[in-house]
Amino acid sequence: MPAAAPTPEIMAAFEAAKGFMPAHEGLALYAAAVEAGGLGLPLLEVGTYCGRSTVLLADAARRAGVTALTVDHHRGSEEQQPGWEYHDPETVDPELGVMDTLPTFRRTLHRAGLEEHVVALVGRSPQVASVWNSPLGLVFIDGGHTDEHANADYEGWAPHVADGGLLVIHDVFPDPADEFTGQAPYHVYLRALASGAFTEVSVTDSLRVLRRTGTGI
Ligand code: SAH
Ligand code: MG
Repeated sequence: MPAAAPTPEIMAAFEAAKGFMPAHEGLALYAAAVEAGGLGLPLLEVGTYCGRSTVLLADAARRAGVTALTVDHHRGSEEQQPGWEYHDPETVDPELGVMDTLPTFRRTLHRAGLEEHVVALVGRSPQVASVWNSPLGLVFIDGGHTDEHANADYEGWAPHVADGGLLVIHDVFPDPADEFTGQAPYHVYLRALASGAFTEVSVTDSLRVLRRTGTGI
């Protein structure tokens, strides 16, 4: 069976959104999300930013009749702050002078016609995870890139991936020469494989898809 692909309209909404997900990796995320949606459980993303990847998860959730959840404090990662390489001045709240990607995210989803398929969880990932207690069909980790954040995302969310569900990790760079914001996601990916709970399904550049095939986390 060929991998599920988004319609040209959804791809256009994805391409129009600000963010850090290349199209070919987005297609792999979409195919994984459609497949995982078949479990009938919610799909959860850590790292909403302006909703670029959320568009794909939301459309996959719509197709499957499930809900997409997306977690972000909307204050930006370290490398997105003013003065840093990945900073976008348009993401700064002019009144407060701090980053706020929530308004842009909401515009992205509205323009894509996908608002009703998404629940946005606004807060720190470990804090949201600490009050979360139900199984997920897919967990997509694309949040903070420090060791502290990436490990907390794994520890907080990977245990909720249902049996047969998928754990997707972005920005996995095994070669330190290729990294752009550190190798924490790579270390988390190795940790997931070493746990014995996950088996690799696919590799698309820095996007890794793993399936829950065992216990151990
Ligand atoms: N998935 C997005 C990119 C996410 S960028 C896309 O497709 O474009 C990473 C995001 O993670 C940022 O918006 C940042 O605010 C968020 N983030 C970083 N650390 C976080 C934490 N501990 N809790 C919640 N969100 C966090
Ligand atoms: Mg990323």
